[in-house]
Amino acid sequence: MSTPSLSVVVPAYQEGTGLAAGLRAIHAAARTTTLPFQLVVVDDGSTDDTWSTLRALEREMPELAAIRLSRNFGKEGAIAAGLDIATGDATIVMDADLQHPPALIVELVRRWRDEGWDVVEAVKSDRGRESFLHRVVTRAFYRAAAWLTGYDLQDASDFKLIDRRVLVEWRRLGERATFFRGLVAWLGFSRTQIAFDVPPRQTGASRWSLGALAGLAVHAVTSFSALPLQLVTILGLVMLLLAVGIGAQALRLWAEGLALPGFTTVILLQLLIGGLLMISMGIIGTYVARIYEEVKARPRYVVRDTLGTDDRGIGDRPTGGDRS
Ligand code: UDP
Ligand code: MG
Repeated sequence: MSTPSLSVVVPAYQEGTGLAAGLRAIHAAARTTTLPFQLVVVDDGSTDDTWSTLRALEREMPELAAIRLSRNFGKEGAIAAGLDIATGDATIVMDADLQHPPALIVELVRRWRDEGWDVVEAVKSDRGRESFLHRVVTRAFYRAAAWLTGYDLQDASDFKLIDRRVLVEWRRLGERATFFRGLVAWLGFSRTQIAFDVPPRQTGASRWSLGALAGLAVHAVTSFSALPLQLVTILGLVMLLLAVGIGAQALRLWAEGLALPGFTTVILLQLLIGGLLMISMGIIGTYVARIYEEVKARPRYVVRDTLGTDDRGIGDRPTGGDRS
């Protein structure tokens, strides 16, 4: 059997300042595995010097393959783009900002190669320096998500190694809006985890605002669970039970000629029912929006430029919407 090969997929958005150092560290770490490898960097529509940095690095790193997306598609889109051109027998996905320590690559590969795991996940043992609010919000999100979806993604990160077999199945997934972490959990296969400490970002700032994180949370839950929709039904049933009880009482008051008092009850009920209806419609609306996004079947990303992807036999030019 020939030596297996490795792909390292790195999404990069506005990483210009630290990218060269980050990629050199990743490149050096990949080399210590002694496996043939390719380094796939996806410039997610950066407006800074990310792309020119990649062009400059191309001379220095023959293993570099880069794609530039036509605009910012978000980290999930960038990961999808990178995975579409990864050819390795194993593929590692990691951040460009060195928050996913390159030193771990060797261990990820060892678990896959020597121990035969299909998915090796690096999980955060310490979430690094995050603001208190950020910490509280993400904790709450993962709790809720685990309850709703049945997948515990607490401490999960996008830093993973997946075997070729997992990648092939990933490519069969039909949805346009992907959620890498969750979908890899959904795909199954044999999985193991290694813990790592998240170092603080080297340069620049995190690309995630609290709003973007909240959006990701809603996206993650609606991708994996229809339970909120059933919650609407349950709420309706609870209200119906209440209606029977309160209706009976109202009728009794009317029969006793005491119908007028109870104005407060009416107002409170109005507010309560109004609020519940709004929330329920919001939940349904969120799912309808997801369906709308999916039926349009737009490509997950659009490629503007490629570097080093043709001449190295890595495969055809990525075509964005390719589902195979
Ligand atoms: N990223 C991307 N597109 C985006 C936002 C982020 O490709 O729209 C990349 C970014 O360049 C980095 C990784 O995703 O390599 C993680 O981003 P960041 O460090 O901002 O997130 P955090 O570490 O706070 O989760
Ligand atoms: Mg980061």
